[in-house]
Amino acid sequence: MLDIKNLHVKLEEEDKQILKGVDLHVPAGSVHAIMGPNGSGKSTLSYVLAGRDGYEVTEGEATLDGADLLQLEPEERAAAGLFLAFQYPVEIPGVGNMTFLRTALNGQRKARGEPEVNSADFLKLVREKAATLKITNDMLKRPVNMGFSGGEKKRNEILQMAVLEPRMCILDETDSGLDVDAMKLVAEGVNALRDEGRAFLLITHYQRLLDHIQPDAVHIMADGRIAKSGGPELALEVEKNGYAEFEGEVA
Ligand code: ADP
Ligand code: MG
Ligand code: MG
Repeated sequence: MLDIKNLHVKLEEEDKQILKGVDLHVPAGSVHAIMGPNGSGKSTLSYVLAGRDGYEVTEGEATLDGADLLQLEPEERAAAGLFLAFQYPVEIPGVGNMTFLRTALNGQRKARGEPEVNSADFLKLVREKAATLKITNDMLKRPVNMGFSGGEKKRNEILQMAVLEPRMCILDETDSGLDVDAMKLVAEGVNALRDEGRAFLLITHYQRLLDHIQPDAVHIMADGRIAKSGGPELALEVEKNGYAEFEGEVA
């Protein structure tokens, strides 16, 4: 599904190399976790995959089902099935949450040559998904993320994922700042979508989330590279010993 080879990325504005040769293969049906210290390049990797401006790929490649992601516009990547839950979800004044969800869903359906979803079906779909994430009607009526608490914003990202049903889901520290109950809701949202035809890349600081979502593989990112890969036991090792070992390795 997602294939990243020798990816090198620098900032467009500055001569600063952030990713220094990332290799990652996330097959359909799997959940891969990326852990790593602050500033190691985890968010940069997710932004570059989603198509955010301001970064320059100087070497390497990233493909989704064989298609060159880096050549596509952000909305084309989304239509191809890529989804990013932001580390810091933005507030969008003036755009109702329901309008946002419906526009995103119909935009993707249109790009795939599918008809628009009808109002009744859409309402039913969103209400059902919102209920499982404990997202209130009031939150659905407000502008996107406006006045939401940190945890509500993160759950709203998962609602978007649940409605859009993307094939490649990237979650950037969706668990950060969540209390235990909210984290369980996020984990349930992910687990409900686990499927043979779908893959997840979970970026997380803590092992906690992985108690609720069993990953197939864990990667440690340090200084712009994958410093080590392993199974779930690697997350436990990090929880116990911290990242010093990997930072040393890279240095
Ligand atoms: P992580 O998500 O692992 O904490 P980031 O990808 O956010 O790391 O950042 C990696 C490094 O790149 C950091 O040193 C960060 O300060 C730097 N960086 C990322 N984006 C920018 C930017 N737009 N301008 C300046 N520095 C940036
Ligand atoms: Mg960070
Ligand atoms: Mg980050």
